Amino acid sequence: MVLRVFNTMSGQLEDFKPIHDKHVGLYVCGPTVYDWAHLGHARTYIAFDVIVRWLEFKEYSVFYVQNITDVGHLTTDTAEDKIVKRAIERKVEPMQLVEFYMREYFKDLDALGVKRPDISPRATGHLLEMIESIQELIQKGIAYEVDGNVFFDVSKLDDYGKLSKIKLDEMLEGSRFEVHKDKRNARDFALWKRATSETVLKWWSPWGTGFPGWHIECAIMGLKYLGSQFDIHGGARDLIFPHHENEIAQSEALTGKKPFVQYWLHTGFLKINGEKMAKSLGNYITVREALKKYSAEAIRLFVMSTHYRSEIDFTDERLKGAETSLARLYNALESLEDAQTVSVHREPNEAETKLGESVENLREQFVNAMDDDFNTPQALAALFDMSKAINRFLDEQKQVSTTLLEKVYDSFSGLGKALGIFQQEKTKAVGEKLVDDLVKLLFDLRTELREKKEYGLSDEIRARMKQFGLVIEDTAEGPKWKLA
Ligand code: AMP
Ligand code: ZN
Repeated sequence: MVLRVFNTMSGQLEDFKPIHDKHVGLYVCGPTVYDWAHLGHARTYIAFDVIVRWLEFKEYSVFYVQNITDVGHLTTDTAEDKIVKRAIERKVEPMQLVEFYMREYFKDLDALGVKRPDISPRATGHLLEMIESIQELIQKGIAYEVDGNVFFDVSKLDDYGKLSKIKLDEMLEGSRFEVHKDKRNARDFALWKRATSETVLKWWSPWGTGFPGWHIECAIMGLKYLGSQFDIHGGARDLIFPHHENEIAQSEALTGKKPFVQYWLHTGFLKINGEKMAKSLGNYITVREALKKYSAEAIRLFVMSTHYRSEIDFTDERLKGAETSLARLYNALESLEDAQTVSVHREPNEAETKLGESVENLREQFVNAMDDDFNTPQALAALFDMSKAINRFLDEQKQVSTTLLEKVYDSFSGLGKALGIFQQEKTKAVGEKLVDDLVKLLFDLRTELREKKEYGLSDEIRARMKQFGLVIEDTAEGPKWKLA
């Protein structure tokens, strides 16, 4: 089945066909780094991580750009720079604040098992490109400068609003844009803002010192790293208007190429007590706090239990539920690993063939669900059904065909990994197995030494192992080790 994605632009499911064959260019709006990453961020970035993993599962190579907003994102009420405002409150350099929260953001997302983007460009690293592009827009007559501020003239476009489908009167009623005396039209938005004597983050420009608007940042970083037309652009749905609408306006005005982006993907909000979880609302649970209570993969499972476009309500109960569900999946995986000890080289019998068929069916259901706009809840349902079938089968078997076991194991663990789970235990299992193997090697050496009556050396091994906290116990099944 071909992969289909819901494109906010068309409001429909569309067949996914990248511009360059098996290569996908992806841009996801990154965080404004003035505070800790919270579960709302985790929702959006886990959702895109799952999308990246699924594209890779389907053998696309993904070039993933996710910016860091370190200037120009203004508060909606007082139009202050969010970073500068916080830096002043804390009496620190704005870039000190940025550096701190950016590093912590990466640590948190790493801890959640979210793969890092290929490039994490910072807005302040791209000021020259922004200034040049703003100049170009002025030359083209699409932007105008008044008293050190530069605005984008929305009336120059006949298709403005095509992403959000917002009508001019609705925009005016909702007062969704900043009021400014120098704007020709209320809808026009700032590309460059003049600095006042109090502005902390400012740069030289042909229009005097100032700073860029938030929307030009992402447009420029997207164009720079992914080209004038690329495949997927994402973010949560609050970014549709005005942020993404304005990105389209600027980029298409600059390049003259339409569309700037082929597929616009937007995630639903993570809510808490019926409200969007947000730094500005102060109702957030940080990723750091959540990770003290829940495992990274349980948080991932909780996020994946809802389709990425729908809203998720955060509750402790749902997170606890996700932890239990995750344990069920791991139990099945471990049972398959344990079954290796009773596996035999022979053709699968009738019960095994039946299990193989049922796993194959469920695998197909999983793939179809993921190909249907990354429908993780349905894909998970197939994975849970697979875990049940596996457990039921293994409970009744004393011996299992090696071929069958390998096939089932590859399907089950491969699909889990495609969703970003079954990551933790593996390293742990490998670590434990390695210790087991090394200890066994020492046992064997010690036994050999004793047989050769080299008691000095064999006692030395025992004593040195004790120093590491490993104690040897002689049991009916031979010597065993445990941690002292
Ligand atoms: P910000 O740090 O506010 O610029 O947000 C970075 C990204 O996280 C944007 O795509 C936001 O829309 C997204 N985001 C922020 N809060 C939430 C939330 N509660 N649920 C889902 N996505 C969110
Ligand atoms: Zn953006």
